[in-house]
This record gives sequence, C-alpha cells and structure tokens, in this order.
Amino acid sequence: MTDPITVSSPSEVLELDLDKCNGYGNCVFAAPEMFELDLASNVPILLKAEWSDGEREALAAAVADCPAGALRLRKRDALG
Ligand code: SF4
Repeated sequence: MTDPITVSSPSEVLELDLDKCNGYGNCVFAAPEMFELDLASNVPILLKAEWSDGEREALAAAVADCPAGALRLRKRDALG
C-alpha cells in the first residue's frame, strides 16, 4: 500500500491514492490545469503544488468525477 500523493492549499489538502486510481482520466478532463495523464504509466501527474481560488471548483469536480474514489479533498488539520 502506497501513501497518497498530497498537495495543499492554505486550508485544504488534495490526496491522490494511486492504489485506487484506474487511469480513467476523468480528473484530467475536469481540471486540466491540475492533472496530466502520464501515458506510459496511465496514472495522473499533479502539475501544481497549490491551487488558486479560481481553480478550486474544477478541482472539486475532478474529485467528484473520479469513479475510483482515488481523489479526496479534505480540510487541512494541525498535522497538515
Ligand atoms: S479520475 Fe480518478 S481513477 Fe481516473 S485518473 Fe483521475 S484519479 Fe485516477
């Protein structure tokens, strides 16, 4: 089991769990400024370490559109 890849904004953390990801690419279509599909490995690459308020809606859509439940957006806690 691999730890999720995480990127953060000041208030939230996005987790990408590659153990669950099936490479459907929905996240790339929903938020192309945040995700790119690596064609060799068929898994998404996170393009940014942070996101702007304007990109938040597309990011939430990517999380909602992931059929594998591989993406999670959560509030940042004291541990990060
Ligand atoms: S939508 Fe989900 S399953 Fe599809 S590539 Fe993105 S993270 Fe992986």
